[in-house]
Amino acid sequence: MDTLFLERLLVLLARGSFTTTYKYALLLALIDLNLEGAGRGAEVTTITTRQLAERVVALYWPHTRPFQGRELSQSRAGQGESSVLRSIFTFRRAVAPHDGLPQRAAKADPEGYDRLIDEVEWVFVREPIPRLQVIGGAQDLFLYRVEWTIQQNSGAPIDPSLPLLTRRAFRAGELPNVLRLLPGVHERLVGLAAVLRPLIHRQWTDLVAQMNRLPERALEDHLFGRSREDLLPVREPLWDLQGGRCFYCGGAVPLAQAQVDHVLPWSRFAEDAIENLVVADGPCNLSKRDFLAGREPLEPWLARPRRDLTQLAEAADWPQGHDRVRSTCAVAYRHMSPGMPLWRGRGALRGLSDDEQRWILAALMSPAAASTV
Ligand SMILES: [Zn+2]
Repeated sequence: MDTLFLERLLVLLARGSFTTTYKYALLLALIDLNLEGAGRGAEVTTITTRQLAERVVALYWPHTRPFQGRELSQSRAGQGESSVLRSIFTFRRAVAPHDGLPQRAAKADPEGYDRLIDEVEWVFVREPIPRLQVIGGAQDLFLYRVEWTIQQNSGAPIDPSLPLLTRRAFRAGELPNVLRLLPGVHERLVGLAAVLRPLIHRQWTDLVAQMNRLPERALEDHLFGRSREDLLPVREPLWDLQGGRCFYCGGAVPLAQAQVDHVLPWSRFAEDAIENLVVADGPCNLSKRDFLAGREPLEPWLARPRRDLTQLAEAADWPQGHDRVRSTCAVAYRHMSPGMPLWRGRGALRGLSDDEQRWILAALMSPAAASTV
């Protein structure tokens, strides 16, 4: 199993700015349809957008039931409700009392069900399908190809070599309504399904909990998270050390808005030593999330004078962890495949190159890199 495939999926899941839960539905639908194919003994190479839409409806179907007496939203506040949920909800209401399972509802009202699938198919063709593999503004095809494209927010097409999607052309069959899986994707999705499914469920749940301000996240945060309060004793000294500036973009940040960030992400390795901490502003911290950093942020991080950090750690009675953090970091970067998207500053993700990997490992391992001691 090549790790690059898994890493790219993780990046895709970790990426911020999810305004709806469609990407989770799309990924789960792909996994389900591949498993189904494998169950028939067939390697899945193409999936029609219709098949996908039917699977998506089945996934969202239970989500339209009330949870503890309330309807849950699956879009960010102010974005309007997810149109897929709205369509399913309307259809369910029309076919009640046959709405227990999508299959029963489809039998009770075949035309209504067909219209529902049409609507969901069009949403997915227009939004998550062409967008899913765009990471950091660039398209990185590793799951499937389609033969249409859409405009990005800038107005430029995601893929200029493809015709722009129009409803008319799509309905007229001028744009093939299939996703062509790239070589090896079928077996990888089948092989990883048992790991991916609970991970996607977890993240989907988290996002819905956030969107609806439910307390579901609190227990995991309590058990495995790191609260801001815990890191408060080193916030001001680090902020001082950085001259009141965000470590990543260099912008001035008031102390009250400064956030302590783990350079080697907390989700990868729970390391609170000073060596692993910097202070960042909110937007940089939010953009970095759980990504590993590329050479651009690493270079100034590695160049931090060790003497300053030692003093800071002693004054705050905090572990320093110089050698431990660097060797753990080296493990993380050594096991990374070239091409793996790394964070390079606010909004910038780009793949790791061979040269860069060599440079990072050498810098992490060399005592001289700890320079200026
Ligand atoms: Zn910043």
